[in-house]
Amino acid sequence: MSEQYDVIVIGAGPAGYAAAIRAAQLGMSTACIDKSIGKDGKPVLGGTCLNWGCIPSKALLDASHKFHDAKHGFAAMGVKVSGVEIDVPAMIARKDQVVTGLTQGIQGLFKGNGVTHLAGRGKLLKDRKVEFTANDGAVSVLQAKNVIVAAGSVPVQIPPAPLTEGFIVDSTGALEFQSVPQRLGVIGAGVIGLELGSVWNRLGAQVVVLEALKEFLPMADERVSRDAEKILRKQGLDIRLGYLVTSAKVVNGAVEVAFKTPDGEQSVTVDKLIVAVGRRPATQNLLSADCGVNLDERGFLYVNDVCETDVPGVYAVGDVVRGPMLAHKGTEEGVMVADRIAGHKPMVNYDCIPSVIYTHPEIAWVGKTEQEVKAGGDAYNVGQFPFAASGRALAANDTEGFVKVIADAATDRILGIHVLGPQASEIVAQAVISMEFDGSAEDLGLTMFAHPSLSEALHEAALGVAGHAIHMVNRKKK
Ligand code: FAD
Ligand code: NAD
Repeated sequence: MSEQYDVIVIGAGPAGYAAAIRAAQLGMSTACIDKSIGKDGKPVLGGTCLNWGCIPSKALLDASHKFHDAKHGFAAMGVKVSGVEIDVPAMIARKDQVVTGLTQGIQGLFKGNGVTHLAGRGKLLKDRKVEFTANDGAVSVLQAKNVIVAAGSVPVQIPPAPLTEGFIVDSTGALEFQSVPQRLGVIGAGVIGLELGSVWNRLGAQVVVLEALKEFLPMADERVSRDAEKILRKQGLDIRLGYLVTSAKVVNGAVEVAFKTPDGEQSVTVDKLIVAVGRRPATQNLLSADCGVNLDERGFLYVNDVCETDVPGVYAVGDVVRGPMLAHKGTEEGVMVADRIAGHKPMVNYDCIPSVIYTHPEIAWVGKTEQEVKAGGDAYNVGQFPFAASGRALAANDTEGFVKVIADAATDRILGIHVLGPQASEIVAQAVISMEFDGSAEDLGLTMFAHPSLSEALHEAALGVAGHAIHMVNRKKK
């Protein structure tokens, strides 16, 4: 007889491992299958996020920011340093240490919570059976009462720029450079392009970012995109909009990249090229033809609002299903599904998913952009407060950006909060809490914030919705 589990999870990224831990905590016998192999050749947990995504990229962003600040920012604060150097192999090794610590942490959490880790590949068969191919090649069929598919995503590759070891790389390769490339090309001015472009720009590379669209960060609030573009250009990122790459090839130890521009065909030569044009669901070899789970029109596993597929007892969560490809979105879906299997009825609030781009300053938002609210046709009010008027930002010499609060004109309900500025990722968490509780701009305005703190900019922007910001000249009289 095949081995039986209450829950089998396929994939141990932030969606899958969270689902597995919660399921086990709720008393269900749980196995989690993952095929990832770490740099040391051993199985690793944590998926893209911990191994090749969120965490390693942030380790490099933090390291490169410290280097850049020491070189270019300290003097303004009266701190004199000389001989600041970057040791790239040491920076990469520290990043690896952070990753190892966290992935081993998940191993510990699996053990402690009673999740069985099965290292290998999982394939969903019909009737909630899962074919498990262990890393040593042994194949077995497992039976589950419930299956949670959390296979995640992989980078999109484009025919004009085939990956070429050491020269043309995806985001994973861009986390492993052992020296600073003198000239770096990035295809795609999306989240990965801007984050990893920033890392190597701060360390001294000349970075050119080639983006097919004519607009910069169209998913962000227009005012945020406009100001962020200016700031990032000033930092040295050569962002070219409306540029469509037509070919990239290695010639004499460098990469020649050709592209169509609004002014005709052009080319640039770089030492390394990062392809960062999006990610796609990891569905290859994941589903048997008769398993009953369907894909949607974009190739994601089709699920409803509570992550149920078309097969009762089979769920899918994280990057492999619709919605933003974000670790926290996957985690919340994974936990929700485990809870629902146990008979509880939680929901994920898809209107309250924060987005953060970890450039400096950071870019973060939750809810609707002003252009979306305007297109909706309802009247609204906006309050905005610049970090240049924040005592804490001035003290820290970190004053670029602003906070913007958009509220419904009739009800004052907060519709969206946008932050471009230092620690925007932390400030947006407060915005999420306000919106989760259906807060109004007035509620935020009546809340006390510690002084001096960067979060006071959120407070002032909320007060500004009614024209009552204290540290601004207000012309609205109410
Ligand atoms: P994944 O993390 O992709 O995990 C899926 C796992 O399933 C993998 O380990 C995979 O090997 C395994 N798997 C797949 N198929 C099978 C199979 N058939 N059998 C067994 N195992 C299988 N998001 C953020 O929210 N914040 C960030 O700062 C951020 N930074 C990022 C930076 C980079 C460079 C990248 C690439 C991504 C970043 N992301 C970030 C996105 C984030 O990593 C993903 O949204 C998140 O990892 C998705 O989680 P998941 O569990 O759905 O899938
Ligand atoms: P993305 O969708 O953010 O950006 C890809 C960009 O590439 C887009 O602007 C697109 O117009 C452009 N593009 C596509 N094809 C092109 C071409 N042929 N030539 C030039 N430009 C082209 O995707 P990404 O940056 O690869 O990131 C993938 C996913 O990972 C995102 O969905 C994101 O949510 C997630 N991620 C999140 C974070 C974070 O939360 N901080 C960080 C990194 C990645």
